[in-house]
Amino acid sequence: MEWDKSASMLLEKVPPFIQKMVREKVEAIARNRGKNLVTESEVLAAKEGFMGKPNPQPAVTKQSLPINNEKLSILRKYTKYFDKDGNPVLYQVKPCRGAEVNCPFLIIDSRILANKLQNRLEKSHFTEKLIDKVDGQILPHHTMKLAVSGCPNSCSMPQIKDFGVHAIEPVSVDTHSKCIECMKCVETCRENAVTVTNNQVTIDKEKCVHCGLCAKVCPTGSIKAEEKEYRVMIGGKVGRHPKFAIDLLPQADEPTTLKALDVCADIILSNKTEHRFRTLIEQQGIEEIKKRI
Ligand code: SF4
Ligand code: SF4
Ligand code: SF4
Repeated sequence: MEWDKSASMLLEKVPPFIQKMVREKVEAIARNRGKNLVTESEVLAAKEGFMGKPNPQPAVTKQSLPINNEKLSILRKYTKYFDKDGNPVLYQVKPCRGAEVNCPFLIIDSRILANKLQNRLEKSHFTEKLIDKVDGQILPHHTMKLAVSGCPNSCSMPQIKDFGVHAIEPVSVDTHSKCIECMKCVETCRENAVTVTNNQVTIDKEKCVHCGLCAKVCPTGSIKAEEKEYRVMIGGKVGRHPKFAIDLLPQADEPTTLKALDVCADIILSNKTEHRFRTLIEQQGIEEIKKRI
């Protein structure tokens, strides 16, 4: 299939390691549209699909929510803060689209944890408690933003959310399996974290981001994948003073990740001020928050 100049230029901006996948996705969209020439329109459509959209907001009990609450009048300008029945939902959980597009980097389907995080906030009545807590109008920055990515590539941008998670697949060297020096692991690792010398494999733990790819390509099992887990980071934000999220749990199982959400939601709801979550984290200290999980 042919690509016009502007579409080709957009493709060139995509990181090389996912260009092949993006190209296939874009061309599939063009074919579905009955076209044999890819334009900017198909590239942008693929980008939207690949980056992910917020999960559909969960159904909530109408009687329990103050639909006509005056505090919500500004927020009503934005449909994303309301479910299909018009009830406020003051959190957005964004999974990546890895599972939907058969992403080759996928470690764990991000929708699974995204749904659990969403259900957790719904069951704990986060929305009602936040409405009670805020004096005056509720504004977009009062709502809680969450994201889950299926691998460390972090396409749903957990680093700039209040509560961000990406899946990890730690690896280790199995000294019982003989390395044949095929060097596939070295070629695959984009972090230059693997070295192979005299049939000995070494992984630099400082450089490794736990993507699990080296274990997938190793033909002898000399590098093996460990249990899949999550990396949890909190307090990322954009706006006038953007900040990347701070690592809360570098490696956590699912129950611990959900417990971390409970703690973070409690910090937001129990603080009398209306400071952004990042400010509350800096006031309390990340180590104190870790102790509560
Ligand atoms: S975060 Fe990883 S799994 Fe999800 S879409 Fe991006 S590359 Fe694929
Ligand atoms: S898990 Fe990923 S980052 Fe770590 S050594 Fe293997 S390929 Fe490199
Ligand atoms: S991929 Fe496996 S067998 Fe090949 S060099 Fe790496 S550790 Fe050795």
